[in-house]
Amino acid sequence: MATANTPPIELGPADLLPRLKDQGYDAERVARRRRWVEQKTGAALEHVGACSWDTEQMRGNIENPIGVAQIPMGIAGPVLVQGRYAQGLFYVPMATTEGALIRSYERGMVALSKSGGVQVSIQADENQISPTFFFTDVHAARDFTEWLPGQLPHLREAAESTTRHGRLTGLHCYQMGRQVIVNLGYATGDAQGMNMIVKATEQACRWIERNYPHIRYFIFSGMCSEKRPSGYLLTRGKGKRVTAGAVVTHEALRLYLHCTARQLFEVWHSTMLGHLHANAVGYNAHYANGLTAIFIATGQDVANVVNAACGITYFELHEEGLFVSLTLPALTVATVGGGTGLPTPREALGIMGCAGSGKAKKFAEIVAAAVLGGEISMGAAITTGEFVAAHEHYGRNRPK
Ligand code: NAP
Repeated sequence: MATANTPPIELGPADLLPRLKDQGYDAERVARRRRWVEQKTGAALEHVGACSWDTEQMRGNIENPIGVAQIPMGIAGPVLVQGRYAQGLFYVPMATTEGALIRSYERGMVALSKSGGVQVSIQADENQISPTFFFTDVHAARDFTEWLPGQLPHLREAAESTTRHGRLTGLHCYQMGRQVIVNLGYATGDAQGMNMIVKATEQACRWIERNYPHIRYFIFSGMCSEKRPSGYLLTRGKGKRVTAGAVVTHEALRLYLHCTARQLFEVWHSTMLGHLHANAVGYNAHYANGLTAIFIATGQDVANVVNAACGITYFELHEEGLFVSLTLPALTVATVGGGTGLPTPREALGIMGCAGSGKAKKFAEIVAAAVLGGEISMGAAITTGEFVAAHEHYGRNRPK
């Protein structure tokens, strides 16, 4: 019987990307690769080629570079933050193509600031990775769960031999059938830390291999929920677990959000039902919008929005206005490593005084406060019926 597959196509050397020596990050090789794409596809890549900084700095962040994606960057705020690491007024850079988004975050942040600011607390700071180990039967798997916790000092020594900043903070075993998933928690300093802790975990697993006969493992089980939403993230967390809360005064609600405390509370209360009905992981108005825009501006791994956007927003009626809060249990943000050192993100982090070592917790506190601004602004736009009008006014760029 004939299959639905199309016949294989011929791919000759002329179809494959040119192999430029050592990957090729210097401006000339980046340009040669770009010209090759222009010739091959007929596309003009003038703006893709308009990189203002030394392309050698892309090494470690990308392969086959042909230029840069330029995303518009705006600024929102000021947001008044009362955290342990961030204190004062901050302006927050956001890169997006969604019209109305920055205006919306801005008015939310101003309402929070005019109300006295946002209290922020970081309760945990631990990235995680969960290798999985295989055994012959249930009892053999159980024996491993009883042996492994006592080996923590050895695992620590092996893991930390690969990094100056990473610290193995603990482990938990989860047996399922004849497999055991081992969740390893790490402090990662100011880095997001996935590269750091995968390397460290490989060494820890090799130590286990040497000291536990006939063991087999995969370094990833999927349980750590890197770049995936999960219920596990809500309770266990990943990276920084951050809570932000404020009382938005009646006056600020009226002046900046054009609604009352009861109206905003009602939106929160009723949309909770929609979230329950959809079986959503947590509850939020639109964390992904603010997080994505801040992540792009500041060189975070944008795919981490998937885990960072798991959280819970909740509001309470308050005699002075409305208590508003959010908790982000899986905020994986960094001020060192990944894309944070590239020139544009570094400048953007600099706007908040968050570039480089010793700044990741400060940055996390600012992010949480800024995202809370977006939560109240979105709710207000729904209750006042301004939502569509705002997008019509700010958020359309129809083809001419
Ligand atoms: P990285 O850029 O690979 O490494 C950052 C390094 O900076 C750290 O390993 C650390 O070296 C050093 N460092 C200097 N000062 C530091 C400080 N104050 N705090 C912490 N570290 C400091 O970044 P990463 O954070 O480990 O990895 C993030 C990237 O991993 C993401 O952007 C993403 O693209 C990628 N990623 C990788 C995987 C994976 O499975 N490998 C999965 C998802 C994402 P020492 O270790 O020597 O201390």
